[in-house]
Amino acid sequence: MQINLTELFTLEGKEKTYTPDIEMKTYHGPNGDYEIADARPVELRIYNLGGKKLELEGKAELTLLIPCDRCLEPVPNKLSFDIIRTVDLSETDKKDEEDLDEQPFVSGYCLDVDQLVCDELILNLPMKVLCSEDCKGICNRCGTNLNHETCDCDVRSVDPRMAVIQDIFKQFKEV
Ligand SMILES: [Zn+2]
Ligand SMILES: [Zn+2]
Repeated sequence: MQINLTELFTLEGKEKTYTPDIEMKTYHGPNGDYEIADARPVELRIYNLGGKKLELEGKAELTLLIPCDRCLEPVPNKLSFDIIRTVDLSETDKKDEEDLDEQPFVSGYCLDVDQLVCDELILNLPMKVLCSEDCKGICNRCGTNLNHETCDCDVRSVDPRMAVIQDIFKQFKEV
């Protein structure tokens, strides 16, 4: 959703509360595209600080389907985070690319709520995603999801570090 910020300037020293919906269905993250399974409307308060400066204060809550680090099955991750940003509209007046990069969610006097949420989401992504603590992952030879099926691959020889340890064990037995 787009919020037209011009109306804020007739409210010097005042604030306005918005509850915009998150409209995007997919989050294009740095490590891939994640489907947004569920999203609550953003609670967003915008304060007019005067001098073309606005303060944004909000709360977002959404569920992202992120692939499990081991088996790649999508795992629902419920994320909720606060948004606190100051926007200086006198900077976006300048057609300076560097300034535009800093506030990609503001274009002219329009605030792009999806873009604002994306901007904050990057800082709130989980470091590790597992469908369960004992996820068996996928066979790195045939790609079978080992949580659902077994395969006939000799996985013992896949990891060269394991092979070395097995050799040591064999030698130990022979002695
Ligand atoms: Zn998994
Ligand atoms: Zn296999």
